[in-house]
Formats: sequence, C-alpha cells, structure tokens
Amino acid sequence: MARISLRNIRHSYVEEPSGEEDWALKSMSVDWADGTACALLGPSGCGKTTLLNIISGLLMPTEGEVLFDDRDVTSIPPDARNIAQVFQFPVVYDTMSVYDNLAFPLRNRGVDKKTIDRRVREIANMLDLEAMLFTRAAGLTADGKQKISLGRGLVRADVNAILFDEPLTVIDPHLKWMLRSKLKELHQQFGATMIYVTHDQTEALTFAEQVIVMHEGAVVQIGTPIELFERPHHTFVGHFIGSPGMNLLPCELDGEHAEFAGHSIRTEHPVRLKTTPDTLQIGVRPEFVKFAESGIEVDVTKVTDIGRHAIVETRSGDNIIRLLLPEGQSAPAGRAHLQFDPKHTQVYADGWIVE
Ligand code: ADP
Ligand code: MG
Repeated sequence: MARISLRNIRHSYVEEPSGEEDWALKSMSVDWADGTACALLGPSGCGKTTLLNIISGLLMPTEGEVLFDDRDVTSIPPDARNIAQVFQFPVVYDTMSVYDNLAFPLRNRGVDKKTIDRRVREIANMLDLEAMLFTRAAGLTADGKQKISLGRGLVRADVNAILFDEPLTVIDPHLKWMLRSKLKELHQQFGATMIYVTHDQTEALTFAEQVIVMHEGAVVQIGTPIELFERPHHTFVGHFIGSPGMNLLPCELDGEHAEFAGHSIRTEHPVRLKTTPDTLQIGVRPEFVKFAESGIEVDVTKVTDIGRHAIVETRSGDNIIRLLLPEGQSAPAGRAHLQFDPKHTQVYADGWIVE
C-alpha cells in the first residue's frame, strides 16, 4: 500500500491546448493517505476516468507528477505501478473458468499454488461465486461477469491501491447495495487504499470516508460526507449533493448582511468581500429551512411526500425555495413565512463560499 499524490496535474486530449475548455483536467494537486477509502464524485464528463487512468498509468498527464510514497512514477507503465483497476464494464476471459479468471492476476505474479487457492476461494466466497467456480465465465450473466472483474481487482494482497471506475453500473440495484457493503467491509478488513469513482452521491457518501467532488475537470471540494453536506464550498457541491439540493437565492449586500426579498438574512458569518463578484447567492439546504410566524413571504406551491419527510416547494417571486418537513407536520396552505437556520446559511460569491 502507498500514499498517492498528484502534483499540479493537468491533462488535455488536444494536441495543442489553448482555451480552458481544452483541458479535461484543470490544474489539481491531491493526496490520498495510505489506506483511505475515497470516492471521486461528479457528473459524467467531469474527468473522473481521466484522473483514475493517470493514477494507474494508462494515461500520461500533459503536465505534473504522480507520486507513490514520494517516488515519482509519472513515466512508469501501469504494470510496474502495482495497481488493481476495476472498470465500468466486465473485463473477463470468457473461455476460462471463474476460478482461472480470479487466479490469473496471482499466477501472473508467480504466487504459489496454495496461496492462490486460498485467495481465490476467499474472494469467491465473499462475492458469492463459489457455486460457479468451475463454470466457464462465458456462461455468466452481466452481473456475474462484473463480480469476476471485482474479484480480479481484489484478489491481490500486495497492490498499492485498488481503483474502481463506476464498477456497479451494470449490476442490478439489489446486488449493488450488497456489493457496496462488501467493498466497504473489505476496506475495513484489509485497509487497502481504495479510490472509488461514481456519479452517484449515495454510492460515494456510503462508501467513502473522504469524498472528492469534481466539476468540469476541477476539484471543487474534498471532505467527509458531513462536511460536504453542512458546508459546501461551492454551489455545485450544494446542489449536486443532497435531495433535493441546496436552495440558491440571489442576494444583495447591506453592509455585511445578506438581503433577500427585502429581508436581512442572518448567515453563518458576516459577509466580507474582497472584490465585487458577478453573482452573489445565499445557500441554504432544505433541511435548514422552516415555516415561522414571520420571515420571508412565500406561496406554498407543492408538497411531495417521500416517507419520513415531505418536500415542500414554495415560491418567493421568481425563486423557488424548498424545505423538508418532518413526518407528522403539515404544510400551511397558500401564504406562509420562512426562516433559515443562520448556522447553516452561507453566502456564495461567483459560486464559491464566502468564508
Ligand atoms: P468521466 O469519467 O467523469 O465521465 P472522462 O474522464 O471520461 O469523464 O472525460 C473527461 C472529458 O475528456 C470529457 O469531455 C471527454 O469527452 C474527454 N475525453 C475523455 N476521453 C477522451 C479521449 N480518449 N479523447 C478525447 N477526449 C476524451
Ligand atoms: Mg468515466
């Protein structure tokens, strides 16, 4: 296992990059402590696979260095980096048995027969593949094949890190949940460095102790699931994480106070800007908005029951403000007033939190 560091990495697929849009990865430096379970979360096209392939060596970055335990591995080929990578779609040898598929990465490294047998059976047991160990992989369903791919990623005990690139895409929802718990369990058991790429916030937040949120080729925030929830550093994190996401409302400044719809809004900190931004917004999650006797005047427009909560949609002028109402409480009809919890109300200048 190793600590992995990226130093000033940039990557472009274009021969001679010029504009910002030519960079699939904008300049970034990231560290993964040895043994972390980390998720890389972001929408399709934000650069997750590019980043993962740079770590594994499938891709040479246009600029910057990749370090394993302070050793520069930027120009070292994938084989020599000692990394296991599980891809979005199954990579299996159809003509081989499940057993031989799982044993392959070990045989390749000259591991002795007894150890191979022990590891293969351990992994097969964990992934519920025991009953089909001696079936040919060709006969398996897409789920089964992807389990083999996962197994091949997990079978070696000596890797620097295991990288998962949206590995549960082809897996059916029930099995997905089970495999995700297994991966987490495995991490706790063996402490391998695991980097898990996904566009699914639930997957990221349940798997990882540290989540890296990416947007348009850039890292916008690195934090624990709680930090991402409570203090999104960027409006993108605010609306991408949470269901529904953070309310973002245009605001003005009166001294160091934010104002929205003629009301002074109390926020976590006084608002002190260094420069004049193009956009200034108040961000507050639906969890931290409540109905009150006084406050922002709204019209209640929609109530959606989602089990333990109801999502209430309200309108103030052109702005929609959503709030979560705990079970058993009912939303007022028509006109109402809203208050925001000041401790969880932030101001964002050009998308970034004002600290
Ligand atoms: P993600 O995995 O988050 O969906 P990718 O890393 O695959 O994102 O892609 C990031 C950006 O780089 C996208 O705009 C994508 O179109 C582009 N890209 C990815 N792979 C290539 C490639 N081989 N050649 C050219 N452009 C690519
Ligand atoms: Mg991808």
